[in-house]
Order: sequence, then structure tokens, then C-alpha cells
Amino acid sequence: MASDILSLIQQRNPNEPEFLQAVEEVVTSVLPVLDRHPEYRSLKILERIVEPERLISFRVTWLDDQGEVQVNRGYRIQMNSAIGPYKGGLRFHPSVNVSVLKFLAFEQIFKNALTGIPMGGGKGGSDFDPKGKSENEIMKFCQAFMGELARHIHHRLDVPAGDIGVGGREIGYLFGAYKKIKNEFTGVLSGKGIGWGGSLIRTEATGYGLIYFAENMLHTRGDTIKGKTCLVSGSGNVAQFAIEKINKMGGKVITASDSSGYIVDEEGIVKEKLEFLKDLKNNRRGRIREYVDQYPSAVFHPADEGADHNPIWNIKGHCAFPCATQNEVNEKDAMNLVKNGVKVVGEGANMPVTIEGINVLIDNGVMYSPGKASNAGGVATSGLEMTQNYMGTSWTREEVDNKLQGIMRNIHDTCLAVANEYGKPGNYLAGANIAGFLKVANAMKAQGVI
Ligand code: NDP
Repeated sequence: MASDILSLIQQRNPNEPEFLQAVEEVVTSVLPVLDRHPEYRSLKILERIVEPERLISFRVTWLDDQGEVQVNRGYRIQMNSAIGPYKGGLRFHPSVNVSVLKFLAFEQIFKNALTGIPMGGGKGGSDFDPKGKSENEIMKFCQAFMGELARHIHHRLDVPAGDIGVGGREIGYLFGAYKKIKNEFTGVLSGKGIGWGGSLIRTEATGYGLIYFAENMLHTRGDTIKGKTCLVSGSGNVAQFAIEKINKMGGKVITASDSSGYIVDEEGIVKEKLEFLKDLKNNRRGRIREYVDQYPSAVFHPADEGADHNPIWNIKGHCAFPCATQNEVNEKDAMNLVKNGVKVVGEGANMPVTIEGINVLIDNGVMYSPGKASNAGGVATSGLEMTQNYMGTSWTREEVDNKLQGIMRNIHDTCLAVANEYGKPGNYLAGANIAGFLKVANAMKAQGVI
């Protein structure tokens, strides 16, 4: 049965490996749901849920600092609106294509459902590479991108946010362009600045939420993050605030990375060093090796593109948090983590562990949380930003942080309860996929064949 549906989806979506990987992971988990609810089969919920409601592709033309014409591709995928307006980030990275964005939009459907906030799934972005571009070029590109995107989004229809390559700076330029084109000030984007409609804690939310989730997992075994040595990959938004929260909770982080390589700092990336890293990445747009120039006791290892494994995952640690990008932990990496006695692997990035890698972790009793559960704090806080915008109010840091902690605990408990109910105790992957699917499938059923 799984293979029938999967081969149909494969035939309809050739050359989309990332999307097919994300679909396979969900379909495998939800088959027991279809056995209990045959009506989902006859209503073709699976066949419908893998088809974007709308896939928008557009040309983005802009002038660089030399006056040369540049042409990029822009996209917005409005994947599923069964439970609320489309919600999901924008990614600016040269690797962006339809397959990558469809996988992200598909994951987003279930993640958003898990938050308990009414948000549908969407994702978008461009193959534009922000690296090496001037401030002026970034602004010009954002304005050109929004020149087309503005036709397709609205604060009650589709509310994009940031993702790889799209942080506070880009959201500012995108928001300014939207406001000028539409002549309206609304919460059409989340991740806005605090002085103009943004929510406190939104910047921190994905990384903080990830560590709250890991703490909940550890509590089920009477354990805590305090005193744990942690491996983190990436050095962008998610990684930075995961490191900050681990430090605050008494753990020690010894690694960080970017696409040029990784650093190991056995003494820990403590507060002062983290502030240096934030400044390096967010303001000076530097490379991770510069960390070692500043703190010579750390060691830099350049990335090896041709390697069959990622050596950052062969370092000894109790917890591992991949926070860079998809498929950065393969089967061999998972085996290395298990060999070194890892207890927890929490996904900060989207789909950072391959299906083979996930199987190794689960089969070896590692507490593994899929990104759609453990990185949902970011979109949940975007949902809180939307609510504040609708209400015309802003909540305090403590209020938002308390809500975030409650949401992460709720997602954790839901995953465990649903996994139990479906005979997969302790399996957060099955719990997350089934719980997210049930919520969306029920809404699709109620709304008829549309
Ligand atoms: P950022 O752009 O802030 O940082 C991304 C980090 O990952 C950078 O250190 C970057 O290095 C590294 N990286 C990106 N691509 C690659 C690659 N192909 N190989 C190696 N390293 C790479 O993005 P975010 O921190 O926002 O996002 C990281 C992950 O978290 C993504 O998977 C994203 O989808 C996910 N996520 C983000 C959320 C958010 O709120 N921001 C919410 C939920 C999930 P370099 O600087 O060299 O490119």
C-alpha cells in the first residue's frame, strides 16, 4: 500500500528528491491512520495533501551595483490552507528550486498543525545568493522580489517569514516594499522589527524552542540538559539561539559551523564567545574560521565536499542539534553519533537527518525529534506575532516566552501520546506525523472535496 501511493507520487513528481524524501517519511508514518480511518483513503486525503494548492513561479529582475541586469527565479508555494492562512518562510539560497521548496512547504503543513495555532502550510524563496552582495544589492533584490510576490500574499491569506538567507534585514526591506506597493500597514510578514509590528522573542524562538523540546524529552528519562556536552551545526539564526539557551540551562556547546567548515571549542562557546559569533555572522557577515583567530584554543576544520560523512557528528557529545540545512546527518553520521553515546538528537533545521539516519537513531534508542516538532517554536511565535498584529497589541518578553514554552511542551506531549496510541511508544517521528496529519485530514474532510 505504501509503495503504491509512493510510486504514484514518484511518477507525478520526477526529479524532486527532497520532496519525495519528505513525503516518504510522512506516508510511512501515517499508514496505520489510514487503516483506522478508511474514509481518508476514499477521500484521497494523501493524494490531495501532496499537491500544492497553488505553485507560483516568477522572474525577479534587478540591477546590481555595476548597473548590470541580474535575473533570478522567485517562488511561493501555497501548499495547504485547510486549517488557516498559508504560513511559512522565504529562503534565499542558490540551492533553492521547486523540489526544495515543496519539501519545506509539505513539512510546514504538519508543523503548523502541531503548534495548535490555526496556520496552513506554505514556503517560498529564490535562488538569489546573498553572499558577497552589497547592502544596496540586497535591498534592490528584496524590492524586486516583493514587486511580484505582493500580488499573491495578504495578512489574511498568506504570511511569509524568514528562513535561510532571510533574516531581520531582508524582512525589513520586503515589508517596506509591500507597504509601498499596497499602501497598507498590516502584519503581512512575520519576523518584523520590534518597533514596527514584530514580536519579542521571535528572533530567538526557533533555537529556544528546540532546547525546550529537548529538555522535555530528557525529563521523560529523569534527565536534564544541565551538564551535557552538546554539538550544534550551523551558526545562523537557529544555531545562535540554540547555543544561547543551552548555555542558560547549564549545558556546554563545543561546535558550530557554516558552509565553509566547522569549529571545535572544547572550552565551550560561552556567552562572550557567542556574542562574538553573533556579531561575526549577523553584522560583519564573516566566516566561521574567524572564530579561531579570536579564540585560538578552538580548532577550525574546513568542509570536505567529497566526504561520505560529516565529521562534526563524529565528535563526542551527549546531545546533537543539527541547525544548518537538509540532509546534513546521513546514515554513517548517525552511526558515529550512536557509537559515541549520544542520548538526544533534536532537529533544529528542516529534515537535517536522512531517512536512513533516522532509522539508525531510533533503532538504537536515541531520543530523536523531527524538525516539524522540535523547530516549530519559530512558526508558533510567528503565529503569536500575527495574533498581536490582529489585536493591535504587543506582549512582553515573559508573556511570549511563557507561551512558547507551553506550546513546545504541548507539542512534545502530543507527539508522545499519539505515538503511544498508535503502538509506537517513544517514537516522536510517528507521533508528530500522525498528530499533524490527523488535524489537517479532519479539516479537509469537513470542508468537502475542493
Ligand atoms: P541562517 O541563514 O540564519 O543560517 C543558516 C546556517 O546554516 C548558516 O550557518 C549557513 O552557513 C549554514 N548552511 C546553510 N546551507 C548550508 C549548506 N548547504 N551546507 C552547510 N551549511 C549550510 O538560517 P536559519 O538559521 O534561519 O535556518 C537554518 C535551518 O533551520 C534551515 O533548515 C531552516 O529551514 C530551519 N528553520 C529555520 C527557522 C527560523 O525561524 N529561522 C524555523 C524553522 C526551521 P553559510 O553562512 O556558510 O551559508
